Amino acid sequence: MKVGFISYWSCPLTRLGILRAGGMNVYIVNLANQLGKLGVAVDIYTRSHKDKHAPSTIRLFENVNLIHLPVQNKDDYLAVLNFARIVSDYIDKKNLTYDLFHSHYYFSGLSALILKTKFKIPFIQTFHTLGEMKKRYVGLSDISRIKAEKQITIISDALIASTQLEKNHLEKYYKADPGKIHVITPGVNHHLFRPHDKIKSRRILNLPLNKKIVLFVGRIDPVKGLTFLIRAVGLLTRKYPDFKESINVLLIGGDINSRYFWHNKEVKKIVRLIKIKKLSGCVNFLGSVSHNKLPRFYSSADVVVLPSFYESFGLVVLEAMACGSAVLSSAVGGVQYLIRDGKNGIIFRSGNVADLSWKLYQLINNPGKRESLGKNAVYTGRNLCWEKQADKMKSLYEKIAV
Ligand code: UDP
Repeated sequence: MKVGFISYWSCPLTRLGILRAGGMNVYIVNLANQLGKLGVAVDIYTRSHKDKHAPSTIRLFENVNLIHLPVQNKDDYLAVLNFARIVSDYIDKKNLTYDLFHSHYYFSGLSALILKTKFKIPFIQTFHTLGEMKKRYVGLSDISRIKAEKQITIISDALIASTQLEKNHLEKYYKADPGKIHVITPGVNHHLFRPHDKIKSRRILNLPLNKKIVLFVGRIDPVKGLTFLIRAVGLLTRKYPDFKESINVLLIGGDINSRYFWHNKEVKKIVRLIKIKKLSGCVNFLGSVSHNKLPRFYSSADVVVLPSFYESFGLVVLEAMACGSAVLSSAVGGVQYLIRDGKNGIIFRSGNVADLSWKLYQLINNPGKRESLGKNAVYTGRNLCWEKQADKMKSLYEKIAV
């Protein structure tokens, strides 16, 4: 079995937590790795990085290649058409054959529509996030995107949803044929994400031993609801001024060494709030942190907070749970399938600053509760792994392939 992954939107090896690079990159790399171990050959097609103009191939894992192909167009819709042609020429030139394509995100899906027609093989689509959800939860309306997603929904041979909720959304808002949607849950790499000793982790990372650490990990994007976290901390420190001395809020994500980062609208909003609430002494932007280092950060934290308005799955929550952290999250998207409120994490009402603030306060002051949540969280996380996901995906490929 040989599969062509289409990853137009972002190279899976891009530094995570910056601009476009997040959960989808982690998903693609881990799925491909596990499929490779199961004997499925995977070629991942992505765009060359800015300075490279010739195709280049990297052997990522056993049976898995990453193929960078150059695309010049600035406009993504034109580039997608061009990308499909470039992938197709490459396949012809190298005389490659695939049993099917698996495309990730809607732009890749648009390329896959063209490749399906050209090579007369099926394609499977994972959207990762849907335009309709961005419209409903973040207020960002992109009609062309939703139209493209509807087209992909109709023409693709199968759709992968990460949760039952995503399946429901595909049926309700995209009128997708229910028989075509397969719920296959992503996983977490348990070899990497496992609990570490808190004190030792803080020493390794040079983090204070005498403070309560509240951690956020993710792309710095309006959908992540970071302004709510800052406002919640502001509320806490107004009520309990001593908190400013004893709390340290760490924000992981974003390219803090680039001036573009500090000119980003969302970043400016967060920075302004930190100033207004006089929190600059206790809130720190750490920038993007390598995936391999994250387990130490999760293990150092007293509370990991995810204040998002929407998450299609919420890998950060699962990673933190696998590391035994006490997680405080809004019950959005896939998160509601991970957290059982009060048992293996705490849920707050999305967008409700007072609720977030109060629950953060309670958790910070209750080490026993944090410990029991963390223990149960590790237990929950054990059931979700990339090995299981790849196994299910392989079975589906075998069913769909011609
Ligand atoms: N991530 C990382 N370093 C960072 C920020 C994020 O490795 O500095 C990873 C994080 O571990 C997670 C992914 O990026 O695996 C974010 O995935 P999630 O599903 O939480 O959010 P998305 O990006 O899909 O919105």
